[in-house]
Amino acid sequence: MTVNEGVFFVPAMSADNQIRVFRRTLNATKKFEGLDVDAYIVITDSYLVVCDTMLCPEDVAAMMQLVQHEIAERIVLVVNSHADWDHAWGNAYFRGKHIAPIIAHEHGLVRMQSQDARQELSDFQQRHPAFRNVELVPPTITFKHGLTIHDSDLTIELFSTPGHHRDHIAAWLPELSVLLAFDAVEKPLPCIENAAAVPSMFATLERLLALQPRRVLCSHGKTTSSEIIKENLAYMREIERRSRTALLTHKPTEQELEHADEFIQYPFDEVIAGSSDEIDRTFYSGAHNTNIRYMLEWVMIRNMHHGR
Ligand SMILES: [Zn+2]
Repeated sequence: MTVNEGVFFVPAMSADNQIRVFRRTLNATKKFEGLDVDAYIVITDSYLVVCDTMLCPEDVAAMMQLVQHEIAERIVLVVNSHADWDHAWGNAYFRGKHIAPIIAHEHGLVRMQSQDARQELSDFQQRHPAFRNVELVPPTITFKHGLTIHDSDLTIELFSTPGHHRDHIAAWLPELSVLLAFDAVEKPLPCIENAAAVPSMFATLERLLALQPRRVLCSHGKTTSSEIIKENLAYMREIERRSRTALLTHKPTEQELEHADEFIQYPFDEVIAGSSDEIDRTFYSGAHNTNIRYMLEWVMIRNMHHGR
């Protein structure tokens, strides 16, 4: 497999000519889980804004190749939705000849410079050739709550949306009523960072819902429907409700936590019932279990504080 064979332009994902959607497919190998991740290029009068850099600099080169006639006099800006490997590991493209500012949440800078990130990169490089040219290039412009890119034809409002990760940001394009949710919203279910992130995940989903977007793009799940926000929120409320009910009987043992979906009686098949889409079962059933474990931990900590 050559490195960039997996980047495609996906016109069906965006009716707006100003938003180009690209998809990176990583084929599963024995030692590596496959995935699909989307990134976007937003084209305004003066800017070409690359929203996420996928897995490696070659991915970015493939995207830039596909929009090369649009670069013209525009200034290239880069946005990292968060520092995860499938969203920001192509940043090295934007050094030297292609230098461009990289905008991200301030905690993304911390993550990108961490020992954990270096360790993860070296692990990935041993497992898959796609990562051989990856370098951890941290963002150069950071913000905490929000940052807005203004142009004559389009506004891009970047704002903090923690829950999946503390450094996660989303992009709201009010003129188009389009939300670039990245991993804040995911199909079939969102992935919570840890127990402490449970309230942030609720708050983020409520905030995104309040925007009432006409269309929502998320990095995984191939959907453009704004219904996905409601579905993710309903899912969060359901795992909370069933966790509270299960905890009324007893505290889960370590072993019960391993099968948290059974403990709260919410099997993965029930979560995805009614969905006809192709779903990565291994990944999302694992994520479902992890979400419930975090939810149970969070509810137990809260109960403790309330003396129950
Ligand atoms: Zn992701």
